[in-house]
Amino acid sequence: GATIQLDGLTKRYPGSPNPAVDNVTMEIKAGETVVLVGPSGCGKSTTLKMINRLIEPSSGRIRIGDEDVTDMDPVKLRRQIGYAIQSSGLFPHMTVAENIALVPKMVGWSKSKVKDRVEEMLDLVGLDPREFHDRYPRRLSGGQQQRVGVARALAADPPVLLMDEPFGAVDPITRDHLQDELIRLQHELHKTIVFVTHDFDEAIKLGDRIAVLRERSHIAQFDTPEAILTN
Ligand code: ADP
Ligand code: ADP
Repeated sequence: GATIQLDGLTKRYPGSPNPAVDNVTMEIKAGETVVLVGPSGCGKSTTLKMINRLIEPSSGRIRIGDEDVTDMDPVKLRRQIGYAIQSSGLFPHMTVAENIALVPKMVGWSKSKVKDRVEEMLDLVGLDPREFHDRYPRRLSGGQQQRVGVARALAADPPVLLMDEPFGAVDPITRDHLQDELIRLQHELHKTIVFVTHDFDEAIKLGDRIAVLRERSHIAQFDTPEAILTN
C-alpha cells in the first residue's frame, strides 16, 4: 500500500454557492482501510473522484506516497489506483473479459498473464468464467455489473483501491462474500483502501478507521469502529 494525504482539499462546482468538499485534511495510512460514511450529497464521491484525478480540486493537495497526484503520469496513476463505483462504469461495447483486461493491458502485462488474471478475478467475484467471459454488460444484472466493476478495479493489483458504494446493488449473500474478500485483500495484500458508503454497518465491518462526514465533507469523527461505537 501507499499513504494517501489530503491537504486542505476543496472542490467548488461552477454555479454552486457552497463547496461540495470544503478544506478536508486527512491521512490514510499505508495498508489501512478508511471508510467515508455520511449522508447523500456530503461530497464522498467528489472526494474519491479528486483522488483519482477524474475531477480537479479547486484548491488543496493530494499525495500518494511521496508524489503529488497532479504530477503523476496517467499510466502510473492507473497502476497505482483501482476504482470501483456504484454504477459499475463498465464500457458497454466491451465484453466482461475485455473490461477486466483493460488496465492490466494498459500497464503492459503479457497476453497470457492478462488471460489468467481475468479468470482469477471472475472467480474472485463469484462469476463463472464460462458463463460470463464473453457477455456484454447490458446482459448482466445490476449486481453482476457491480461485481465485474470490482473485478476490473482489482485486476492490475493496484496498491490503492478507491471504492464508491461498490456493493450497493449486490445481493446480500454475495455482498457478504465480497466484503470478506475485501478484508482478506486488506490483511494479506496490505492494500490502502478508501471505501465510500452510506451504510453504517458496512462501515463498521470494513473500516480500520471510519470518517463520519457531515455536509461539505466536514469530518465529524475520525476513529476506529470500536471508538465510534462507544461514543
Ligand atoms: P455523495 O457522494 O456524498 O453523495 P457527491 O460528491 O456526489 O456526494 O456530491 C456532493 C455535492 O456536490 C452534492 O451537493 C452534489 O449535488 C454536488 N455535485 C456533485 N457532482 C456535481 C457536478 N458535476 N456538478 C455540480 N454539482 C455536483
Ligand atoms: P453516482 O454517485 O453513482 O456517480 P450521481 O447521481 O451522484 O451518481 O452522479 C451521476 C453523475 O452526475 C456524476 O458524474 C456526477 O458528477 C454528476 N452530478 C451529480 N450531482 C450533480 C449536480 N448537482 N449537478 C450536475 N452534475 C451532477
